[in-house]
Amino acid sequence: QKKAIIIGAGIAGIATAIRLAVKGYAVEVIEANSYPGGKLSAIDLKGYRFDAGPSLLTMPQYIDELFVLAGKNPADYFRYQKLDTVCHYFYEDGTRIKAYADTQEFAAELNRTTGEPAENVLKYLANSADIYNITNHVFLERSLHRLQTFARWDTIRSIFRLPRIDAMRSMHKANAGYFKDERVIQFFDRYATYNGSNPYQAPATLNVIPHLEHHFGAYFPEGGMYSITQSLVKLAKELGVNFRYHTRVNEIVVVNKIVKGVRVNGEAMVADIVVSNMDIWPTYKNLLQKYPSLHPERILSQERSSSALIYYWGIKKAFPQLDLHNIFFSADYQAEFAHIWQQQDIYHDPTVYINISSKFETNDAPVGCENWFVMINVPANEGQDWDSLITDVRQNILRKLSKILGEDIGGLIACESILDPRSIESKTSSYKGSVYGTSSNSQFAAFLRHANKSSKVSGLYFCGGSVHPGGGIPLCLLSAKILSETI
Ligand code: FAD
Repeated sequence: QKKAIIIGAGIAGIATAIRLAVKGYAVEVIEANSYPGGKLSAIDLKGYRFDAGPSLLTMPQYIDELFVLAGKNPADYFRYQKLDTVCHYFYEDGTRIKAYADTQEFAAELNRTTGEPAENVLKYLANSADIYNITNHVFLERSLHRLQTFARWDTIRSIFRLPRIDAMRSMHKANAGYFKDERVIQFFDRYATYNGSNPYQAPATLNVIPHLEHHFGAYFPEGGMYSITQSLVKLAKELGVNFRYHTRVNEIVVVNKIVKGVRVNGEAMVADIVVSNMDIWPTYKNLLQKYPSLHPERILSQERSSSALIYYWGIKKAFPQLDLHNIFFSADYQAEFAHIWQQQDIYHDPTVYINISSKFETNDAPVGCENWFVMINVPANEGQDWDSLITDVRQNILRKLSKILGEDIGGLIACESILDPRSIESKTSSYKGSVYGTSSNSQFAAFLRHANKSSKVSGLYFCGGSVHPGGGIPLCLLSAKILSETI
């Protein structure tokens, strides 16, 4: 039996483990932390439970697929429900928008709240669907690094339709062309943050993202987001995958351009194939340090995605006007992004996202209380003075939320924990604490992500948010799929 070692038990590492076990490999997953999931983990704090990282589930079919592949019924392991309302939006001028999943209802709501003609919204979403249909075979579901991909008829058809994906102007420019109302433009610009990018720079191709939410839907998993990790680890173990926690891989061993295994605290572990689920930057700079000629410097020097600052707050009150997902927009979105991307600091009026899983899972907070995951987008870690930024921003966020919700939010915080770019980096080895690997701020970003297979070392593979096709749970799961199809 061939042996595979996977470095990291992030979601892509676990998915790869399942796929390789199904292929008949003996699989060992080596994880530095004492728990699986990487960014997709959870924390408990004085009677409150929080999902630590991802909070929005889209494309759950890629999770189900893994259970089906293993001959199991997905619903026996992992259940989720579709959201009727994807998110509640709060603007500084008092506008409130409920983003209904149903397209007609959603267009009518935007029209009712902002006066934007419903047909503009419907036309926009049809364009979004178009971009998806053109790009998903080429950029998402297959390797960009194999000739086979380009020899397929659907790829060739997509290539002829590429001018329609709107890659030459920014998302913001395209959105400002579609809509009259500033609030609606801001609404759709926000989707750039779904992969840690800047709507004023990222290509309008990213306007595909609303299609994922409005066509395929947004979901809440029973038990919270961490149940994704738990259910997949359970499946992997049933398939015989061995997880070794508290163990950091120090080196990938390569002899004559063939991978031989890994080294862990001086101990050599032999394998036929090695899959790195850790960030591509430390994979090369740390684990393949001895082989600088292998380092793809151009890829490694790509701009990183933004990072995140999260306050996990146990709140001693329930807020019926809030939902599972809530956005409190900045009054000046352009200034906010200029601070993140040009000044590399934090705007005094940031857009605040609040996720409250206790709206669905009542056990996530004590009775009459709520678990608030309060997040803002921040620059990647370039050595900023995070301690003072965290203190200042906390005041600004509290002022903003207290004003809009009409309550002294600071006085309702029963307990608190904080995650910042430094701790994202130290907990998951993501270079500069970026959340989604490299940014998508350039139209070439998709082509400059690292492939899922090494072109220089036989037996070496890569999965996860920093390699093709990119960050976010669905794409990480696709990286595992492309990788295993490549083997
Ligand atoms: P990671 O989660 O990055 O895990 C890598 C693992 O490798 C870690 O466990 C690490 O300990 C381990 N490791 C690293 N080096 C070593 C070593 N040398 N030896 C052994 N183990 C090692 N996505 C969404 O789809 N929806 C969202 O709403 C969303 N929100 C997010 C919010 C936040 C705050 C964050 C941080 C991320 C969010 N994401 C979201 C992105 C999503 O979490 C990531 O894209 C995805 O979880 C990354 O998975 P991964 O497989 O790349 O591995």
